[in-house]
Amino acid sequence: MDLPKRPTNPKGTRALSTITIVDSLAEITRYQDRELLERSLAITLSELFPSETFRLFQIVMVEDRIKAALVAYARDGVIVSELNQDQCQLSEPLLEAVAEAIDSRTVVELPDQRAGITQIVYPLYDKRDDVYGVLLQLTPEPGFNNQRLTYGLLRIYSNYLALLDDSHRDRLTNLLNRETLDTEITKRIIAHAGSRGPEHAKRRNADKTRAWLTLVDIDYFKRINDGWGHLYGDEVLILLARLLEKIFRQEDLLFRYGGEEFVVLFQAPGPDIAQSICERARKTIAEHIFPTVGSVTVSIGATEIRDQDGVSMVIDEADKALYYAKEHGRDQVRFYSDLINSGLIDTKTRANGGGVDFF
Ligand code: GH3
Ligand code: MG
Ligand code: MG
Repeated sequence: MDLPKRPTNPKGTRALSTITIVDSLAEITRYQDRELLERSLAITLSELFPSETFRLFQIVMVEDRIKAALVAYARDGVIVSELNQDQCQLSEPLLEAVAEAIDSRTVVELPDQRAGITQIVYPLYDKRDDVYGVLLQLTPEPGFNNQRLTYGLLRIYSNYLALLDDSHRDRLTNLLNRETLDTEITKRIIAHAGSRGPEHAKRRNADKTRAWLTLVDIDYFKRINDGWGHLYGDEVLILLARLLEKIFRQEDLLFRYGGEEFVVLFQAPGPDIAQSICERARKTIAEHIFPTVGSVTVSIGATEIRDQDGVSMVIDEADKALYYAKEHGRDQVRFYSDLINSGLIDTKTRANGGGVDFF
């Protein structure tokens, strides 16, 4: 539902009436997709505070080091996408301010007296109290009320994200559930289509932007249930989920796809590295000793997300590779393109009767 444009005061700046603020809340919580939400937050704040600039960074802590990636930049109520390096990155003093804000869990101001502007740094925490982002507000008037309002909106945004996150997760393993998988695969197909120009081709190799999907299926899981009982089976699923989180990177996405099947979406610059990532996962799992049940192995089917005709085609390719791995000894990794190129399967080969266990 789109309402008419909000009225502006004579100077062109928006009056911060209660109605304006309620409108902003509605706008911020309008989307269910994280990327759209991030953009909506930045746009809404920059509408509330014209002449200010908002930058939202995603933060990942890697061994106590801060890795920041810009996810939205907004000014005058619009997202700005043509940005220079300074706008995309954090300068040294800003990085220090961000570190201070994260450590002290408070809002930090970094004034630039000569330019007459101030950067305000707001840290954002998820429901486990881990930092997941920072918002930078570049303002000529760092008043307390403005800061309080931004801070309040950010708290609502974080609470809403936490709720959304709950609804996107599988209850047993806390991995992402199937519903989010379709959206994530579609995004990658679209990103691939948008990265086919010559300029992008160069960057793609340097940036590790090729996307891969793997299906990870536990071998003979039925025997675990039959031999030890369903509760021990559940425990293996939970422990395997934690192990996958350790094996893959924080930016990779892990899903529980079916009963004892998992999907991982990850980035790698080419097939060799993608293969070694999957092989390392297989080996780490095979060498892990699970309490009570001991060793568990998995079979892995993988494919690159390219220009397939939709989500089901991507999954079907990985499923065919997985089926081949199951039929040829299990505890192994197979890539769809290898099987096709070496003539071991053809595009018409059926996967496991489309067989995925639902739970
Ligand atoms: P394969 O090596 O061919 O994959 O054999 P498998 O036994 O792993 O595969 P199959 O598809 O025959 O059996 C999967 C089993 O997983 C059947 C089902 O009862 C069990 N399962 C599915 N969801 C759950 C769950 O949430 N908890 C437990 N404990 N078991 C589950
Ligand atoms: Mg299965
Ligand atoms: Mg299985």
